[in-house]
Amino acid sequence: MTAKKHIQSVLEQVVQRNPGEVEFHQAVKEVLESLEPVISTRPEYVEANILGRIVEPERVIIFRVPWQDDRGQVHVNRGFRVQFNSPLGPYKGGIRFHPSVNQGIIKFLGFEQTFKNSLTTMPIGGGKGGSDFDPKFKSEPEIMRFCQSFMTELHRHIGIATDVPAGDIGAGAREVGFMFGQYKRLKNEFTGVFTGKGQSWGGSHIRPEATGYGAVYFAQEMLRSRNESIEGKICVVSGSGNVAQHTVEKLNELGARVVALSDSEGSIYDPQGIDEEKLRFVMELKRIRGGRIKEYAERFKGVEYHKGLRPWAIECDCAFTSATQNEINLSDARSLSKNQCRLICEGANMPTEPEAINLALSSDCLFGPSKAANAGGVAVSALEMSQNSMRLKWSREEVDTKLKEIMKTIYRQCAEAAEEYGMEGNLAAGANMAGFVRGADAMLDHGVV
Ligand code: NDP
Repeated sequence: MTAKKHIQSVLEQVVQRNPGEVEFHQAVKEVLESLEPVISTRPEYVEANILGRIVEPERVIIFRVPWQDDRGQVHVNRGFRVQFNSPLGPYKGGIRFHPSVNQGIIKFLGFEQTFKNSLTTMPIGGGKGGSDFDPKFKSEPEIMRFCQSFMTELHRHIGIATDVPAGDIGAGAREVGFMFGQYKRLKNEFTGVFTGKGQSWGGSHIRPEATGYGAVYFAQEMLRSRNESIEGKICVVSGSGNVAQHTVEKLNELGARVVALSDSEGSIYDPQGIDEEKLRFVMELKRIRGGRIKEYAERFKGVEYHKGLRPWAIECDCAFTSATQNEINLSDARSLSKNQCRLICEGANMPTEPEAINLALSSDCLFGPSKAANAGGVAVSALEMSQNSMRLKWSREEVDTKLKEIMKTIYRQCAEAAEEYGMEGNLAAGANMAGFVRGADAMLDHGVV
Protein backbone atom coordinates (compact mmCIF):
# COMPACT_ATOMS: atom_id res chain seq x y z
CA MET A 1 0.00 0.00 0.00
CA THR A 2 1.33 3.49 -0.79
CA ALA A 3 1.97 5.92 2.07
CA LYS A 4 -0.86 8.12 0.81
CA LYS A 5 -3.35 5.24 0.82
CA HIS A 6 -2.25 4.08 4.26
CA ILE A 7 -2.71 7.60 5.66
CA GLN A 8 -6.09 7.92 3.98
CA SER A 9 -7.33 4.64 5.44
CA VAL A 10 -6.21 5.62 8.97
CA LEU A 11 -7.95 8.98 8.58
CA GLU A 12 -11.18 7.32 7.45
CA GLN A 13 -11.04 5.04 10.45
CA VAL A 14 -10.53 7.98 12.82
CA VAL A 15 -13.62 9.75 11.45
CA GLN A 16 -15.69 6.57 11.60
CA ARG A 17 -14.58 5.59 15.09
CA ASN A 18 -14.87 9.02 16.67
CA PRO A 19 -18.17 10.41 15.35
CA GLY A 20 -18.79 14.11 15.90
CA GLU A 21 -15.35 14.81 17.33
CA VAL A 22 -14.57 17.48 14.75
CA GLU A 23 -11.61 19.11 16.48
CA PHE A 24 -10.00 15.70 16.92
CA HIS A 25 -10.53 14.88 13.22
CA GLN A 26 -9.03 18.26 12.29
CA ALA A 27 -5.92 17.75 14.43
CA VAL A 28 -5.32 14.20 13.18
CA LYS A 29 -5.83 15.16 9.53
CA GLU A 30 -3.40 18.06 9.78
CA VAL A 31 -0.69 15.84 11.26
CA LEU A 32 -1.18 12.68 9.21
CA GLU A 33 -1.34 14.39 5.83
CA SER A 34 1.97 16.10 6.51
CA LEU A 35 3.65 12.79 7.38
CA GLU A 36 3.52 11.34 3.87
CA PRO A 37 7.22 12.02 3.09
CA VAL A 38 8.23 10.20 6.30
CA ILE A 39 5.86 7.26 5.90
CA SER A 40 6.92 6.70 2.29
CA THR A 41 10.58 6.29 3.31
CA ARG A 42 10.00 4.21 6.48
CA PRO A 43 7.96 1.06 5.62
CA GLU A 44 8.52 -0.28 9.14
CA TYR A 45 6.07 2.33 10.43
CA VAL A 46 3.39 0.93 8.14
CA GLU A 47 4.20 -2.69 9.04
CA ALA A 48 3.89 -1.92 12.75
CA ASN A 49 0.76 0.18 12.08
CA ILE A 50 2.25 3.06 14.06
CA LEU A 51 -0.27 5.51 12.60
CA GLY A 52 -3.23 3.31 13.53
CA ARG A 53 -1.90 3.12 17.08
CA ILE A 54 -0.83 6.75 17.53
CA VAL A 55 -4.33 8.05 16.75
CA GLU A 56 -5.94 5.82 19.38
CA PRO A 57 -5.57 7.07 22.97
CA GLU A 58 -4.08 4.49 25.32
CA ARG A 59 -6.84 5.29 27.80
CA VAL A 60 -9.83 7.64 28.10
CA ILE A 61 -11.22 8.27 31.57
CA ILE A 62 -14.62 9.97 31.92
CA PHE A 63 -16.16 10.68 35.29
CA ARG A 64 -18.91 12.45 37.17
CA VAL A 65 -17.96 15.58 39.12
CA PRO A 66 -20.72 16.51 41.59
CA TRP A 67 -20.35 19.71 43.64
CA GLN A 68 -22.45 22.09 45.70
CA ASP A 69 -22.70 25.84 45.08
CA ASP A 70 -22.84 28.44 47.87
CA ARG A 71 -26.62 28.15 48.08
CA GLY A 72 -26.44 24.41 48.60
CA GLN A 73 -27.62 23.54 45.09
CA VAL A 74 -26.05 20.39 43.64
CA HIS A 75 -24.43 20.52 40.17
CA VAL A 76 -22.92 17.80 38.04
CA ASN A 77 -20.10 18.34 35.58
CA ARG A 78 -18.22 15.85 33.46
CA GLY A 79 -14.52 15.20 34.01
CA PHE A 80 -12.06 13.83 31.44
CA ARG A 81 -8.49 12.59 31.35
CA VAL A 82 -7.15 11.28 28.07
CA GLN A 83 -3.89 9.38 28.52
CA PHE A 84 -2.87 9.51 24.90
CA ASN A 85 0.55 8.10 24.32
CA SER A 86 3.40 7.10 26.64
CA PRO A 87 6.43 5.69 24.74
CA LEU A 88 8.59 8.65 25.76
CA GLY A 89 7.55 9.05 29.39
CA PRO A 90 4.59 9.52 31.75
CA TYR A 91 1.51 11.21 30.26
CA LYS A 92 1.87 14.97 30.55
CA GLY A 93 -0.58 17.70 29.67
CA GLY A 94 -2.85 20.31 31.20
CA ILE A 95 -6.35 20.39 32.66
CA ARG A 96 -8.86 22.71 30.96
CA PHE A 97 -11.97 24.06 32.71
CA HIS A 98 -14.27 25.62 30.13
CA PRO A 99 -17.94 25.06 29.21
CA SER A 100 -16.93 24.01 25.68
CA VAL A 101 -14.91 21.01 26.93
CA ASN A 102 -16.01 17.64 25.57
CA GLN A 103 -14.32 14.36 24.70
CA GLY A 104 -13.34 15.47 21.17
CA ILE A 105 -11.65 18.64 22.41
CA ILE A 106 -9.67 16.81 25.08
CA LYS A 107 -8.68 14.16 22.52
CA PHE A 108 -7.46 16.76 20.03
CA LEU A 109 -5.44 18.42 22.79
CA GLY A 110 -3.99 15.10 23.99
CA PHE A 111 -3.06 14.13 20.44
CA GLU A 112 -1.32 17.45 19.79
CA GLN A 113 0.41 17.20 23.17
CA THR A 114 1.98 13.88 22.19
CA PHE A 115 3.86 15.47 19.28
CA LYS A 116 4.65 18.65 21.17
CA ASN A 117 6.12 16.78 24.11
CA SER A 118 8.22 14.69 21.77
CA LEU A 119 9.60 17.86 20.18
CA THR A 120 10.84 19.13 23.54
CA THR A 121 13.17 16.05 23.56
CA MET A 122 12.25 15.60 27.23
CA PRO A 123 11.01 12.30 28.75
CA ILE A 124 7.26 13.00 28.66
CA GLY A 125 4.32 11.33 26.92
CA GLY A 126 1.10 13.04 25.88
CA GLY A 127 -2.13 13.53 27.81
CA LYS A 128 -4.80 16.12 28.52
CA GLY A 129 -7.79 16.52 30.80
CA GLY A 130 -10.51 18.85 31.86
CA SER A 131 -14.13 19.48 32.54
CA ASP A 132 -17.07 21.41 31.12
CA PHE A 133 -17.12 23.37 34.40
CA ASP A 134 -17.13 27.16 33.92
CA PRO A 135 -15.05 28.89 36.62
CA LYS A 136 -16.26 32.33 35.48
CA PHE A 137 -18.37 34.14 38.07
CA LYS A 138 -18.00 31.31 40.62
CA SER A 139 -16.95 32.11 44.17
CA GLU A 140 -13.59 30.86 45.43
CA PRO A 141 -15.23 28.29 47.79
CA GLU A 142 -17.27 26.97 44.83
CA ILE A 143 -14.12 26.62 42.71
CA MET A 144 -12.39 24.84 45.59
CA ARG A 145 -15.25 22.39 46.09
CA PHE A 146 -15.33 21.68 42.37
CA CYS A 147 -11.54 21.12 42.17
CA GLN A 148 -11.66 18.80 45.20
CA SER A 149 -14.49 16.75 43.70
CA PHE A 150 -12.64 16.57 40.35
CA MET A 151 -9.49 15.32 42.08
CA THR A 152 -11.38 12.85 44.29
CA GLU A 153 -11.86 10.76 41.15
CA LEU A 154 -8.78 11.75 39.14
CA HIS A 155 -6.29 10.97 41.91
CA ARG A 156 -6.49 7.21 41.31
CA HIS A 157 -5.39 7.61 37.68
CA ILE A 158 -2.37 9.91 38.06
CA GLY A 159 1.04 9.82 39.76
CA ILE A 160 4.62 10.98 39.21
CA ALA A 161 5.52 7.92 37.12
CA THR A 162 2.11 7.62 35.43
CA ASP A 163 0.54 10.94 34.56
CA VAL A 164 1.47 14.47 35.64
CA PRO A 165 -1.18 17.12 34.86
CA ALA A 166 -0.81 20.92 34.80
CA GLY A 167 -3.12 23.91 34.24
CA ASP A 168 -4.67 25.18 30.98
CA ILE A 169 -7.60 27.45 30.10
CA GLY A 170 -9.60 28.18 33.28
CA ALA A 171 -7.13 26.28 35.48
CA GLY A 172 -4.42 28.61 36.74
CA ALA A 173 -2.29 28.66 39.88
CA ARG A 174 -5.31 28.76 42.21
CA GLU A 175 -7.02 25.71 40.69
CA VAL A 176 -3.73 23.76 40.52
CA GLY A 177 -3.31 24.53 44.23
CA PHE A 178 -6.77 23.20 45.11
CA MET A 179 -6.28 20.05 43.02
CA PHE A 180 -2.78 19.40 44.38
CA GLY A 181 -4.01 19.92 47.96
CA GLN A 182 -6.78 17.34 47.53
CA TYR A 183 -4.39 14.85 45.86
CA LYS A 184 -1.92 15.21 48.75
CA ARG A 185 -4.69 14.68 51.27
CA LEU A 186 -6.12 11.59 49.56
CA LYS A 187 -2.75 9.93 48.90
CA ASN A 188 -0.96 11.13 52.03
CA GLU A 189 2.01 11.90 49.77
CA PHE A 190 3.83 15.09 48.83
CA THR A 191 5.08 14.47 45.30
CA GLY A 192 5.53 16.48 42.11
CA VAL A 193 2.29 15.08 40.69
CA PHE A 194 1.30 18.44 39.20
CA THR A 195 3.34 21.10 37.45
CA GLY A 196 2.66 24.81 37.61
CA LYS A 197 2.74 24.50 41.40
CA GLY A 198 3.22 27.49 43.73
CA GLN A 199 6.79 28.71 44.18
CA SER A 200 6.90 27.71 47.86
CA TRP A 201 5.60 24.17 47.32
CA GLY A 202 7.58 22.69 44.46
CA GLY A 203 6.86 25.01 41.56
CA SER A 204 9.56 26.00 39.10
CA HIS A 205 10.61 29.56 38.40
CA ILE A 206 9.44 30.73 34.96
CA ARG A 207 6.68 28.07 34.68
CA PRO A 208 3.86 30.63 34.72
CA GLU A 209 5.72 32.70 32.10
CA ALA A 210 7.08 29.80 30.03
CA THR A 211 4.44 29.40 27.31
CA GLY A 212 4.30 33.12 26.49
CA TYR A 213 8.06 33.65 26.78
CA GLY A 214 8.71 30.48 24.78
CA ALA A 215 6.41 31.61 21.97
CA VAL A 216 8.35 34.87 21.71
CA TYR A 217 11.71 33.03 21.75
CA PHE A 218 10.38 30.84 18.95
CA ALA A 219 9.28 33.93 16.99
CA GLN A 220 12.78 35.36 17.43
CA GLU A 221 14.23 32.22 15.83
CA MET A 222 11.81 32.49 12.91
CA LEU A 223 12.69 36.14 12.36
CA ARG A 224 16.40 35.39 12.68
CA SER A 225 16.09 33.03 9.69
CA ARG A 226 15.31 36.19 7.69
CA ASN A 227 17.89 38.35 9.42
CA GLU A 228 15.18 40.27 11.22
CA SER A 229 14.52 40.92 14.88
CA ILE A 230 11.47 41.45 17.03
CA GLU A 231 12.60 44.92 18.10
CA GLY A 232 10.33 47.66 16.80
CA LYS A 233 7.71 45.24 15.48
CA ILE A 234 4.02 46.07 15.90
CA CYS A 235 2.35 43.02 17.44
CA VAL A 236 -1.21 41.88 17.97
CA VAL A 237 -1.89 39.31 20.68
CA SER A 238 -5.20 37.48 21.11
CA GLY A 239 -6.49 36.37 24.51
CA SER A 240 -5.63 38.08 27.77
CA GLY A 241 -4.96 35.10 30.03
CA ASN A 242 -1.74 33.44 31.11
CA VAL A 243 -0.18 32.91 27.67
CA ALA A 244 -1.20 36.31 26.31
CA GLN A 245 0.03 38.23 29.37
CA HIS A 246 3.50 36.72 29.32
CA THR A 247 3.73 37.05 25.55
CA VAL A 248 3.12 40.78 25.95
CA GLU A 249 5.61 40.98 28.82
CA LYS A 250 8.42 39.41 26.78
CA LEU A 251 7.57 41.37 23.62
CA ASN A 252 7.78 44.62 25.60
CA GLU A 253 11.10 43.57 27.10
CA LEU A 254 12.49 42.95 23.61
CA GLY A 255 11.36 46.33 22.28
CA ALA A 256 8.25 45.37 20.31
CA ARG A 257 4.97 47.32 20.59
CA VAL A 258 1.83 45.31 21.39
CA VAL A 259 -1.32 47.10 20.29
CA ALA A 260 -4.12 44.58 20.86
CA LEU A 261 -5.51 41.99 23.24
CA SER A 262 -8.84 40.17 23.39
CA ASP A 263 -11.10 37.91 25.41
CA SER A 264 -14.12 35.81 24.58
CA GLU A 265 -16.30 38.93 24.28
CA GLY A 266 -14.18 41.28 22.18
CA SER A 267 -10.85 42.94 21.59
CA ILE A 268 -9.09 46.20 22.40
CA TYR A 269 -6.88 48.29 20.12
CA ASP A 270 -4.39 50.55 21.87
CA PRO A 271 -2.21 52.29 19.27
CA GLN A 272 0.06 53.69 22.01
CA GLY A 273 1.03 50.15 23.03
CA ILE A 274 0.31 48.03 26.09
CA ASP A 275 3.19 49.11 28.30
CA GLU A 276 4.24 47.68 31.65
CA GLU A 277 1.71 49.66 33.68
CA LYS A 278 -1.16 48.74 31.38
CA LEU A 279 -0.07 45.10 31.42
CA ARG A 280 -0.20 45.14 35.22
CA PHE A 281 -3.78 46.37 34.91
CA VAL A 282 -4.61 43.42 32.61
CA MET A 283 -2.98 40.95 35.01
CA GLU A 284 -4.98 42.28 37.94
CA LEU A 285 -8.16 42.43 35.83
CA LYS A 286 -7.92 38.83 34.62
CA ARG A 287 -6.18 37.04 37.50
CA ILE A 288 -7.82 38.69 40.48
CA ARG A 289 -11.03 40.37 39.44
CA GLY A 290 -12.05 38.00 36.64
CA GLY A 291 -13.10 41.07 34.63
CA ARG A 292 -13.66 41.71 30.92
CA ILE A 293 -11.06 43.19 28.53
CA LYS A 294 -13.62 45.91 27.72
CA GLU A 295 -12.65 47.53 31.04
CA TYR A 296 -9.19 48.25 29.56
CA ALA A 297 -10.79 50.59 27.02
CA GLU A 298 -12.76 52.27 29.81
CA ARG A 299 -9.63 52.73 31.94
CA PHE A 300 -7.13 54.06 29.36
CA LYS A 301 -7.46 56.94 26.88
CA GLY A 302 -7.30 56.53 23.12
CA VAL A 303 -8.24 52.84 23.19
CA GLU A 304 -10.90 51.31 20.94
CA TYR A 305 -13.06 48.38 22.02
CA HIS A 306 -14.32 46.05 19.30
CA LYS A 307 -17.19 44.05 20.72
CA GLY A 308 -17.43 40.46 19.46
CA LEU A 309 -14.39 40.87 17.19
CA ARG A 310 -11.01 39.17 17.18
CA PRO A 311 -8.00 41.42 16.72
CA TRP A 312 -6.88 40.16 13.29
CA ALA A 313 -8.08 43.16 11.26
CA ILE A 314 -5.65 45.43 13.11
CA GLU A 315 -2.49 46.34 11.21
CA CYS A 316 0.54 44.52 12.55
CA ASP A 317 3.90 42.95 11.68
CA CYS A 318 3.43 39.93 13.94
CA ALA A 319 0.35 38.09 15.25
CA PHE A 320 0.44 35.96 18.40
CA THR A 321 -2.61 33.71 18.79
CA SER A 322 -2.92 33.10 22.51
CA ALA A 323 -6.60 32.43 23.28
CA THR A 324 -8.04 29.17 21.97
CA GLN A 325 -8.51 26.76 19.03
CA ASN A 326 -9.74 27.90 15.59
CA GLU A 327 -9.48 31.62 16.24
CA ILE A 328 -7.97 32.52 12.83
CA ASN A 329 -10.13 31.54 9.88
CA LEU A 330 -9.46 32.12 6.19
CA SER A 331 -10.99 35.57 6.23
CA ASP A 332 -8.89 36.57 9.27
CA ALA A 333 -5.78 35.25 7.51
CA ARG A 334 -6.68 37.35 4.45
CA SER A 335 -6.97 40.45 6.64
CA LEU A 336 -3.58 39.73 8.19
CA SER A 337 -2.07 39.17 4.77
CA LYS A 338 -3.62 42.36 3.35
CA ASN A 339 -2.09 44.28 6.23
CA GLN A 340 1.31 42.71 5.45
CA CYS A 341 1.57 40.71 8.67
CA ARG A 342 4.91 38.87 8.38
CA LEU A 343 4.66 36.33 11.17
CA ILE A 344 1.97 34.25 12.87
CA CYS A 345 3.10 32.51 16.03
CA GLU A 346 0.68 30.08 17.68
CA GLY A 347 0.69 30.43 21.48
CA ALA A 348 -2.68 28.69 21.82
CA ASN A 349 -3.33 25.10 20.69
CA MET A 350 -4.53 24.74 17.06
CA PRO A 351 -5.66 28.38 16.81
CA THR A 352 -5.35 28.58 13.02
CA GLU A 353 -7.82 26.80 10.73
CA PRO A 354 -6.28 24.64 7.96
CA GLU A 355 -7.21 26.99 5.08
CA ALA A 356 -5.68 29.90 7.00
CA ILE A 357 -2.46 27.92 7.58
CA ASN A 358 -2.30 27.16 3.85
CA LEU A 359 -2.68 30.83 3.03
CA ALA A 360 0.12 31.77 5.43
CA LEU A 361 2.40 29.03 4.09
CA SER A 362 1.79 30.00 0.48
CA SER A 363 2.47 33.68 1.16
CA ASP A 364 5.52 35.33 2.58
CA CYS A 365 4.28 35.03 6.16
CA LEU A 366 6.34 33.02 8.65
CA PHE A 367 4.17 30.47 10.45
CA GLY A 368 5.10 29.01 13.85
CA PRO A 369 2.86 25.99 14.63
CA SER A 370 1.53 25.54 18.15
CA LYS A 371 3.19 22.16 18.74
CA ALA A 372 6.51 23.90 18.49
CA ALA A 373 5.84 27.54 19.35
CA ASN A 374 3.93 26.93 22.59
CA ALA A 375 6.00 23.97 23.79
CA GLY A 376 7.89 26.21 26.23
CA GLY A 377 5.19 25.67 28.85
CA VAL A 378 5.40 21.92 28.89
CA ALA A 379 9.19 22.05 28.57
CA VAL A 380 9.46 24.04 31.80
CA SER A 381 6.91 21.66 33.33
CA ALA A 382 9.37 18.87 32.54
CA LEU A 383 12.10 20.96 34.17
CA GLU A 384 9.81 21.31 37.20
CA MET A 385 9.52 17.50 37.31
CA SER A 386 13.33 17.20 37.20
CA GLN A 387 13.73 19.71 40.03
CA ASN A 388 11.10 17.89 42.11
CA SER A 389 12.84 14.56 41.58
CA MET A 390 16.15 16.04 42.71
CA ARG A 391 14.45 18.01 45.52
CA LEU A 392 16.27 21.08 44.23
CA LYS A 393 15.18 24.41 42.84
CA TRP A 394 17.01 26.17 40.04
CA SER A 395 17.23 29.98 39.86
CA ARG A 396 15.05 32.04 37.55
CA GLU A 397 18.04 32.75 35.31
CA GLU A 398 18.96 29.06 35.06
CA VAL A 399 15.44 28.05 34.02
CA ASP A 400 15.11 30.92 31.56
CA THR A 401 18.44 30.02 29.95
CA LYS A 402 17.31 26.40 29.59
CA LEU A 403 13.97 27.51 28.13
CA LYS A 404 15.73 29.64 25.50
CA GLU A 405 17.95 26.71 24.54
CA ILE A 406 14.98 24.34 24.33
CA MET A 407 13.05 26.74 22.05
CA LYS A 408 16.10 27.04 19.80
CA THR A 409 16.41 23.25 19.65
CA ILE A 410 12.72 22.88 18.83
CA TYR A 411 13.02 25.46 16.06
CA ARG A 412 16.10 23.72 14.65
CA GLN A 413 14.40 20.31 14.66
CA CYS A 414 11.35 21.69 12.81
CA ALA A 415 13.46 23.53 10.24
CA GLU A 416 15.77 20.55 9.67
CA ALA A 417 12.97 18.00 9.35
CA ALA A 418 11.17 20.26 6.86
CA GLU A 419 14.35 20.54 4.81
CA GLU A 420 15.20 16.83 5.03
CA TYR A 421 11.80 15.85 3.64
CA GLY A 422 11.75 18.47 0.88
CA MET A 423 9.44 21.02 2.52
CA GLU A 424 11.92 23.74 3.38
CA GLY A 425 10.48 26.60 5.41
CA ASN A 426 7.31 24.71 6.33
CA LEU A 427 7.68 24.59 10.11
CA ALA A 428 4.18 23.14 10.54
CA ALA A 429 5.11 20.02 8.56
CA GLY A 430 8.58 20.00 10.16
CA ALA A 431 7.09 20.00 13.68
CA ASN A 432 4.78 17.12 12.84
CA MET A 433 7.51 15.05 11.22
CA ALA A 434 10.18 15.62 13.87
CA GLY A 435 7.69 15.06 16.72
CA PHE A 436 6.36 11.93 15.06
CA VAL A 437 9.68 10.22 14.30
CA ARG A 438 10.97 10.37 17.88
CA GLY A 439 7.76 8.92 19.34
CA ALA A 440 7.31 6.38 16.54
CA ASP A 441 10.85 5.01 16.95
CA ALA A 442 10.23 4.52 20.67
CA MET A 443 6.97 2.73 19.85
CA LEU A 444 8.86 0.38 17.52
CA ASP A 445 11.35 -0.34 20.34
CA HIS A 446 8.53 -1.26 22.74
CA GLY A 447 6.84 -3.80 20.49
CA VAL A 448 3.09 -4.08 19.96
CA VAL A 449 1.71 -2.64 23.20
P1 NDP B 1 -6.35 31.34 30.23
O1 NDP B 1 -7.58 30.71 30.77
O2 NDP B 1 -5.40 31.97 31.17
O3 NDP B 1 -6.74 32.45 29.14
C1 NDP B 1 -7.50 32.11 28.03
C2 NDP B 1 -7.81 33.37 27.23
O4 NDP B 1 -8.45 33.01 26.02
C3 NDP B 1 -8.78 34.31 27.94
O5 NDP B 1 -8.50 35.62 27.55
C4 NDP B 1 -10.12 33.86 27.40
O6 NDP B 1 -11.13 34.87 27.44
C5 NDP B 1 -9.77 33.53 25.98
N1 NDP B 1 -10.69 32.50 25.46
C6 NDP B 1 -10.93 31.28 26.01
N2 NDP B 1 -11.84 30.61 25.28
C7 NDP B 1 -12.16 31.43 24.27
C8 NDP B 1 -13.05 31.31 23.18
N3 NDP B 1 -13.77 30.20 22.98
N4 NDP B 1 -13.12 32.36 22.31
C9 NDP B 1 -12.38 33.49 22.49
N5 NDP B 1 -11.53 33.66 23.53
C10 NDP B 1 -11.42 32.65 24.38
O7 NDP B 1 -5.65 30.20 29.36
P2 NDP B 1 -4.15 30.13 28.86
O8 NDP B 1 -3.63 31.48 28.56
O9 NDP B 1 -3.41 29.25 29.79
O10 NDP B 1 -4.31 29.30 27.51
C11 NDP B 1 -4.49 29.92 26.23
C12 NDP B 1 -4.19 28.94 25.12
O11 NDP B 1 -2.82 28.50 25.23
C13 NDP B 1 -5.02 27.65 25.12
O12 NDP B 1 -5.21 27.22 23.79
C14 NDP B 1 -4.12 26.66 25.85
O13 NDP B 1 -4.42 25.32 25.53
C15 NDP B 1 -2.77 27.08 25.28
N6 NDP B 1 -1.63 26.66 26.06
C16 NDP B 1 -1.49 27.06 27.37
C17 NDP B 1 -0.38 26.67 28.09
C18 NDP B 1 -0.12 27.18 29.46
O14 NDP B 1 1.01 26.97 29.95
N7 NDP B 1 -1.05 27.83 30.11
C19 NDP B 1 0.63 25.75 27.50
C20 NDP B 1 0.44 25.49 26.10
C21 NDP B 1 -0.67 25.90 25.44
P3 NDP B 1 -12.13 34.98 28.70
O15 NDP B 1 -11.33 35.66 29.77
O16 NDP B 1 -13.26 35.78 28.17
O17 NDP B 1 -12.50 33.58 29.06
